[in-house]
Amino acid sequence: MIPYVTDSSDNPQITIPANLLPADGRFGSGPSKVRPENVEALAAAADHFLGTSHRQKTVKSVVGSLREGLRDLFSLPDGYEVMLGNGGTTCFWDAATFCLIEKKSQHLSFGEFSSKFATAASDAPHLDDPEVIASDVGTHPTSIARDDVDLYALTHNETSTGVMMEITRPTGAGSAAKGGGLVAVDGTSAAAGLPVDPEQFDVYYFAPQKCFGSDGGLWAALVSLSAQERIASIKASGRWVPASLDLTIALDNSKLDQTYNTPALATLFMFENQARWFNDNGGMKFSTGRCERSAEILYAWADNSDFATPFVQREVDRSRVVATIDFADSINAATVAAVLRANGIVDTEPYRKLGRNQLRVAMFPAIDPDDVAALCACINYVVGASAD
Ligand SMILES: *Cc1c(COP(=O)(O)O)cnc(C)c1O
Repeated sequence: MIPYVTDSSDNPQITIPANLLPADGRFGSGPSKVRPENVEALAAAADHFLGTSHRQKTVKSVVGSLREGLRDLFSLPDGYEVMLGNGGTTCFWDAATFCLIEKKSQHLSFGEFSSKFATAASDAPHLDDPEVIASDVGTHPTSIARDDVDLYALTHNETSTGVMMEITRPTGAGSAAKGGGLVAVDGTSAAAGLPVDPEQFDVYYFAPQKCFGSDGGLWAALVSLSAQERIASIKASGRWVPASLDLTIALDNSKLDQTYNTPALATLFMFENQARWFNDNGGMKFSTGRCERSAEILYAWADNSDFATPFVQREVDRSRVVATIDFADSINAATVAAVLRANGIVDTEPYRKLGRNQLRVAMFPAIDPDDVAALCACINYVVGASAD
């Protein structure tokens, strides 16, 4: 029998038994769970760290350690640089529109986030119209090597739909050094949660409020030598670039363990602390392993459920960092999310613009796989209790 939670206006008063609740109720896809240990470390360091100059050694050593930590975590080949700047991923799209696309880009568009960079590039008066290859939500397109494309924009994990894709250079494109296009990857919700081979990208950019369990407002970008050359050559061509979006300035400052303008120090601190937590526990194997384990639990629960099904049809496309789970018509997922919220389990609501009867659950490395199992039990409880 399928239980019923029918109407979102009728939020049933359901109290989930304490023994079923997860230890931590944060399952949002960004901002996402910040580990309490990380906040405690920040509090312990606060007196000599917060409220001090970002141009002095105390803060610069944290930035230096963060850059080194990211280099280790991603096993970056020689020549790659770790860049940092303010404004999060959305600002990085604008910076890329100015400083990474020479003339024409190609974008894989399969959800809210991947479509936004495509829009930024098509709105830019100094660029040719980009090629946008789109696919239905719940799937992803494939890039096509072209002679006239100088940047391929990929998205490792489309956070709005819960679709992940493997990062590979488009076949035939060659390396940027040989005249092919640069491969620039939005890894915002994937970085440290999904494996990636640095040989397959020239730019891998992200923000720290997802897998790095820090706060928003910064961007980080791992950039190959070819990408650095592109940044320099566009600048040398005389193109006007606003200073806050100028990647030559960002690169110069990053090499000095600084940002061009004042960063959020707490964000930097927690970003570095999380990178160190990954590296101290086994690096990328550890961080991606936690996501993999959570995903196994969640999708196995959905597969065995008589009211829940993974939204993404192809198993290989189902994200290991952000799961989207459709509910049977007889159950109102928004009501389930509201009941969970009333019980301290927050941010399982679906991506608003997707408009589906589903829950979206982050499975970032900070989230304990045991808590994902507890969440499944809580959903079962809520759906069961509302059928009574
Ligand atoms: C969250 C997210 C963004 C936006 O990041 P901001 O730091 O808020 O600009 C972009 N792309 C993807 C894939 C995301 O998940």
